[in-house]
Amino acid sequence: VPADRTLLSDEAREIVMLARDFATRELAPLVAEAEASSSFPRDAFARLGELGLLSVPFVTEHGGGGQPYEVYLQALEEIAAVWPSVAVGVSVHAMSCYPIATWGSDEQREKLLARMLDGRLLGGYCLSEADAGSDPAAMRTRASRAADGFRISGAKAWVTHGGWADFYTVFARTSDERSRGISCFHVAGDANGLVAQPPERKMGLTASTTTAILFEDVQLGASALIGDEGQGLAIALQALDSGRLGIAAVANGLAQAALDEAVAYARDRETFGRPIIEHQGLGFMLADMAAAVESARAITLEAARRRDRGLSFHRHASIAKLLATDAAMKVSTDAVQVLGGYGYTKDFPVERMMRDAKVMQIFEGTNQIQRMVIARDLARSH
Ligand SMILES: Cc1cc2nc3c(=O)[nH]c(=O)nc-3n(C[C@H](O)[C@H](O)[C@H](O)COP(=O)(O)OP(=O)(O)OC[C@H]3O[C@@H](n4cnc5c(N)ncnc54)[C@H](O)[C@@H]3O)c2cc1C
Repeated sequence: VPADRTLLSDEAREIVMLARDFATRELAPLVAEAEASSSFPRDAFARLGELGLLSVPFVTEHGGGGQPYEVYLQALEEIAAVWPSVAVGVSVHAMSCYPIATWGSDEQREKLLARMLDGRLLGGYCLSEADAGSDPAAMRTRASRAADGFRISGAKAWVTHGGWADFYTVFARTSDERSRGISCFHVAGDANGLVAQPPERKMGLTASTTTAILFEDVQLGASALIGDEGQGLAIALQALDSGRLGIAAVANGLAQAALDEAVAYARDRETFGRPIIEHQGLGFMLADMAAAVESARAITLEAARRRDRGLSFHRHASIAKLLATDAAMKVSTDAVQVLGGYGYTKDFPVERMMRDAKVMQIFEGTNQIQRMVIARDLARSH
């Protein structure tokens, strides 16, 4: 049990242990086959919802778990240690719920939130476009005012849960003003004119479906607008601050699992008459891996504690995302090295971890963009 877990309250520890038990008992047997066949495990999300693991950090009023973000991230880490595709899904779902939970009207919360948090409604987050990834303010998808509400036309790219989600949190342009001309909408997954494209064929995270989504004159009532017109980009960026902590936690879980695999193998495998962990060259590599995992976790949880205390955590979320995902890439690559030729085969999970880690340096803001966020924040506050 990592040191941080021992500081948790009894209730919080129960939640983290529930996540660990669920992941090891119910998810672990499914991982290899679902990843090999690129099958999205929709049922796993229903189970996570039933167990209360999709609602952990949301306020209790509409079915949230009312737990600190620090606790949610540790539960997420346990899921990621077993199945990163599912853990990324939990994090993206939470980010899709965030705008209604935080910026939505009482009516929207009353109508939707409980079903979003208990897993009956799975979410997708439609911010990126084919030509607007790092720079979402360049988006072209448009929501035009109509007599009875809005009509959305355009194409979103890279939507996690595309085609599977029951609702999408969609950002679209309501005026030509670059950043103040974007608004946020709640769109049902089965809306007329919403068409999910075939899944992307990815290097890793293959059980997590990613698609483009076309919006062909999708009609929405006025009540689909979340927050005010023009507030969309602010909502999206605020949701991303919290989402980036989720991705950092997923990276930490993946890195811990890669380290555990490497240590177990290195204690067992012998060359030159002794376990390879006793060769200093390899032992030092494992020591560096452990140092990277522990420090990334500490930085992630410290950023979460700032959020829990109501302090600004914008820069800290980007630092955590940057360091944790770079650590996961390095640690999983080194884990392959520790296993030698076997590490390069699909008979051991470390090659999958290495492939899964790569995307974490790319999505929810590439690590170049995280540096930009950190530098801009330093320029403002110092
Ligand atoms: C598996 C997967 C799942 C995803 N899920 C979602 C989702 O659910 N919802 C969603 O909205 N999006 C999602 N994304 C999209 C993801 O957030 C974008 O791919 C990412 O933000 C990068 O955008 P881009 O691919 O257009 O790259 P680009 O913006 O074209 O960047 C290309 C390269 O240029 C660098 N770069 C760009 N601008 C700068 C700069 N100013 N300074 C320095 N370097 C720069 C980038 O770091 C990158 O290395 C997902 C992506 C993937 C791969």
